[in-house]
Amino acid sequence: MIVGVIGGGQLARMMIPAAVELGIELHVLAEAEGMSAGLAAVAVGDYRDRDAVLAFADTVDVVTFDHEHVPQEILRELVSRGVAVHPGPDALQYAQDKLLMREKLASLGLPVPDWARASSADELADFLDDHGGRAVVKTARGGYDGKGVRVVRAAHEADDWFTALAEDGNGGDLLVEELVDFSRELAQLVARRPSGEVVAWPLVETVQKEGVCAEVIAPAPHSAGRIADLAADIAFAVAEGVGVTGVLAVELFQTTDGRLLVNELAMRPHNSGHWSIDGSTTSQFEQHLRAVLDLPLGATGCHDDWSVMVNILGGPTSGSLEDRYPAALAAHPLVKVHNYGKSPRPGRKIGHVTAGGTELDDVSYEARAAAALLVE
Ligand code: ADP
Repeated sequence: MIVGVIGGGQLARMMIPAAVELGIELHVLAEAEGMSAGLAAVAVGDYRDRDAVLAFADTVDVVTFDHEHVPQEILRELVSRGVAVHPGPDALQYAQDKLLMREKLASLGLPVPDWARASSADELADFLDDHGGRAVVKTARGGYDGKGVRVVRAAHEADDWFTALAEDGNGGDLLVEELVDFSRELAQLVARRPSGEVVAWPLVETVQKEGVCAEVIAPAPHSAGRIADLAADIAFAVAEGVGVTGVLAVELFQTTDGRLLVNELAMRPHNSGHWSIDGSTTSQFEQHLRAVLDLPLGATGCHDDWSVMVNILGGPTSGSLEDRYPAALAAHPLVKVHNYGKSPRPGRKIGHVTAGGTELDDVSYEARAAAALLVE
């Protein structure tokens, strides 16, 4: 069985050990030489290049993804040629386009922030008038790690984006949303296989800094019972409603008045699930492989009372991450270090660490201290 992964980033990289354990061959179509998943790269090519993607797909049994950006036309051509694509284009479109995603979630009756499609500064001004003069504007496509997300207080603050969309020639609108007054952000990870089986990991809390995930706590503190049940119900409804196959991450806001609202969907392994490599019976990477191959899914229980994952953002001020190993590994023998083999750059995710244990304060301390030593 050969699983083909389009995209050579760290998500593809972290599928490699899971594939090795299960004896599954993993082939990666990487964007360039020397990428994070270069260990498994069998081809280098652009995921927007139809011929490159088709040639790659010919060599594998199932196609899946490291990211959501492969154009719909190419995905649909693969499907029409009989290639197994998981998640398929019908599901993936909702992770590719935030306006489609909002429309779909609304049609499924799921809770989302107040939102509108804005095609002009006037329409944005109307939304601002109705929402206390503040809103979050998002580009529908191509955003990640907070790029393409902007809080605005005046309609002209999105003029550059309207201009760019107009120049693009495809038309296109912006998504405008209420600025949600949330007490915290949560993520519910599930996996679904083509024949329908769905499993959920425990709900987690995610902490973002400047639009980038910095830390994840599993399970989310104070979430047993109603909140956890609600989050799982929402994620199951999304998974069924969009027909996703593979791992689905549903990013949620918990509002100050105790509601859950869906912010974002990701249809691939997700930063909020990295803790599962060390903290769960089945990691999200193994589960993704099982799911896209339509194999029975693994158990999603936790090894520890608490797992905390801290991202390594940017990297050391000088030298490499590995230069910091002697100090960091000696000081934190219980912490697991994951290095994505990427060169450090300000703000770039180049790795993560995970700690597990029985006292949340101790576990958080261990993970944060280890991550800090690695970038010192
Ligand atoms: P990306 O696709 O870049 O991850 P998101 O839509 O997840 O973008 O937004 C990034 C972050 O911006 C969120 O994690 C959250 O902290 C903040 N954010 C997004 N939408 C809203 C909103 N409607 N209200 C308040 N904060 C928001």
